[in-house]
Amino acid sequence: MTDFPSPDVTETSRPFWDALNEDFLVFQECEQQHRWLPARDFCPTCLSDQFKYVKARGRAQLLSWVVYNSAMNDAFKDQVPYNVALVQLEEGPKMMTNILAPNGELKAGMDLQLEIVKQDHFKLAKFKPSSK
Ligand SMILES: [Zn+2]
Repeated sequence: MTDFPSPDVTETSRPFWDALNEDFLVFQECEQQHRWLPARDFCPTCLSDQFKYVKARGRAQLLSWVVYNSAMNDAFKDQVPYNVALVQLEEGPKMMTNILAPNGELKAGMDLQLEIVKQDHFKLAKFKPSSK
């Protein structure tokens, strides 16, 4: 079996991955309260390099998605067909993820709940339909 590709953990992104390992999701926020994901060295809106990590509540909405019917990496071949989705956290940041639901049940705007999933030696932030 092929190993899953590992995240490229940098000094800046380490708090993000450390948080997932402790079962919560964080995003970055600059002094002007712009918020973003994925981790980067400066704010994509105002270019400030002064930021902190903020814990997300774990609620999001599904914006869009695609379904892969062939695996671009052998590590994913047993998961075909799988979705890759863009979601927006309640706090504002958008992120790429997977929705843990049958592809046919995905609906734009559906409410989602964070589900942290262990993948080899690290954990990933995925989402499932909210039960509310
Ligand atoms: Zn900013």
